[in-house]
Amino acid sequence: MRARENDGIVLTTYGRSSGFAVDPIEKKPLNHFLPGTPVFSFGTAGCNLTCKFCQNWDISKSRKMDTLADAAGPEEIANAAARLGCRSVAFTYNDPVIFLEYARDVAAACLERDIRTVAVTAGYVNAEPREEFFSFIDAANIDLKAFDEDFYRRIAGGHLEAVLDTLRYLRHETDIWFEVTNLVIPGYNDAEDGIRRMADWIFEELGSDVPVHFSAFHPSYKMRDVPPTPRSTLRRARQIAKDAGIRHVYTGNVHDREGDTTYCAACGTVLIVRDWYEVIAWNLDDGACPKCGVRCAGVLDPAPGTWGSRRLTVKMGHDGIVLS
Ligand SMILES: [Zn+2]
Repeated sequence: MRARENDGIVLTTYGRSSGFAVDPIEKKPLNHFLPGTPVFSFGTAGCNLTCKFCQNWDISKSRKMDTLADAAGPEEIANAAARLGCRSVAFTYNDPVIFLEYARDVAAACLERDIRTVAVTAGYVNAEPREEFFSFIDAANIDLKAFDEDFYRRIAGGHLEAVLDTLRYLRHETDIWFEVTNLVIPGYNDAEDGIRRMADWIFEELGSDVPVHFSAFHPSYKMRDVPPTPRSTLRRARQIAKDAGIRHVYTGNVHDREGDTTYCAACGTVLIVRDWYEVIAWNLDDGACPKCGVRCAGVLDPAPGTWGSRRLTVKMGHDGIVLS
């Protein structure tokens, strides 16, 4: 994704995308950041990790430029997002830390239009670019793949400590809203002890308000022989994290009403009910529990967005946008 041009290193994917779409923000997943609103989403190609279970491997493992068929500069992206009524733009599908310069310029164009920026990332990045990257991000979902250095090294081609450093950095040195996702893979990172250690670490280092999503694995890439994650495993993981003191714990990629619901951290009242990615009930009084008055953590408007669960594919043409 980078090459030498004259005497500098350039980002060859700058201004080129593997596709544009409008998604519900809940799909990133972010459950406490402008719920119900549409997010203009795009990625490039490539990755700085080599996860054997990659769920987007057609994009992340691509070495071919034909994956990057859609060209769009920062101004065009921000304009399209505004015209489509999106409250935010997400850098997603592949890891945005590898297309930092492109994301930075898109973020600058979004800022002028009051559109927020969302990063969906594994957080595997050095300290200096970490600071630069997150300086233009409003919300993030960080993929914590396992609480196990051996897993990171053998299965993901990275190291755990850098990811933990990113999480600590976000919590203690920024005011970025962030949530954590853990993809639970049967036989690899689903042991109760590992999930408990992860949950304890999150509670102690990040606090009780950071939402955690336990997401179902689907057989993919080099791990097609591994079965999909049973719903019972996700529910057990959710219970372990709740027992550790984490207030907002969700299940993902499965249909599970309880695991999709936001409850008041203080009194347990149901605050937000979701059906897959759609907000179907909203029981907040200006961001607070109507029963006990305790504020719900997150970036919440007085009312939810009405985007629903739709996914809209967007083609960027020379003279505008084409929807499908
Ligand atoms: Zn309450």
